[in-house]
Amino acid sequence: MHRRWHAWEPGPLETVNRAFAGGRRIELPPGMLEPILRAKRLESASEGLFNPAIGRLLALWGFHASQLPSGPPPSQDAIADLLAQSPSMTDIQIENGTIGSRNPAVQMDFGAFIKGVAVERALAILEAHGLEHAIVNAGGDVGVIGSAGGAPWRVGIRHPDGAGGRILAELEAGDGEFVFTSGNYLRYREHEGIRHGHIIDPRSGYPADRVVSVTVIAEHGGTADAGATALAVAGEAEWPRIAARLGIDKVLRVDGQGRVSMTTAMRERVRLMAPQAAVSERSLPPD
Ligand code: ADP
Ligand code: MG
Repeated sequence: MHRRWHAWEPGPLETVNRAFAGGRRIELPPGMLEPILRAKRLESASEGLFNPAIGRLLALWGFHASQLPSGPPPSQDAIADLLAQSPSMTDIQIENGTIGSRNPAVQMDFGAFIKGVAVERALAILEAHGLEHAIVNAGGDVGVIGSAGGAPWRVGIRHPDGAGGRILAELEAGDGEFVFTSGNYLRYREHEGIRHGHIIDPRSGYPADRVVSVTVIAEHGGTADAGATALAVAGEAEWPRIAARLGIDKVLRVDGQGRVSMTTAMRERVRLMAPQAAVSERSLPPD
């Protein structure tokens, strides 16, 4: 899946992206339909805060490289240029086994979503082999089935201050749940002391730097992954609404001042390990 969905190395996704740029329709490569349809739904439910069609913007920021660049951010004009073309998954049309985009600015980048799908698949493979209790850990993002000897699986969430692998909280995850975290504290570029994280606010074209980390628990890996990213983009006022629209009721959010807020449903799953200056609870609006 890493190869198939790689956003900038040769592979099927990159082939589709090249067709979009050239205004061509091509045959839809096998296995791509379902994730693309899911990504379309997640983009719309997140009101575009999760937007996997902004590959050009991500490339402009230099995020299409294993090592993020240093130096000044891209020019305002270049960012405004790309925003004006408003790439969206809604531009993509799939018909009779072919795929095309009516907007040549669309470049798919599934970096915020496909790991969740991969963890779902890994668990499905284990289940198909008769395993009933398992935890799959993809770099700190996990999915679980069954239980840990009759008790819920416990998942540690790293403290976003990054100091020495400190644990912020321990969460309980039950059968079929996925715990995903999005943060700006591990992958970022830095210029003159200012850090720019790798999560972009598709509305402004600039990194969403108000939040340091968002952890969600959801029943689908793809929803958990894309949802954590979307909620990292969402502001203080709007994140409960976006969470409700995505059907995610368990959210833990740490803002730039280290303040922790979480939903009522998350509170029941969390044990905070670090003494916190401020913890608040938010209820979600009815969806
Ligand atoms: P992680 O790398 O920790 O899994 P995310 O799941 O949040 O973090 O994914 C971040 C990646 O998603 C970025 O590196 C980029 O490729 C892509 N991305 C950044 N901002 C957005 C966004 N608003 N919508 C969709 N994808 C994004
Ligand atoms: Mg994500």
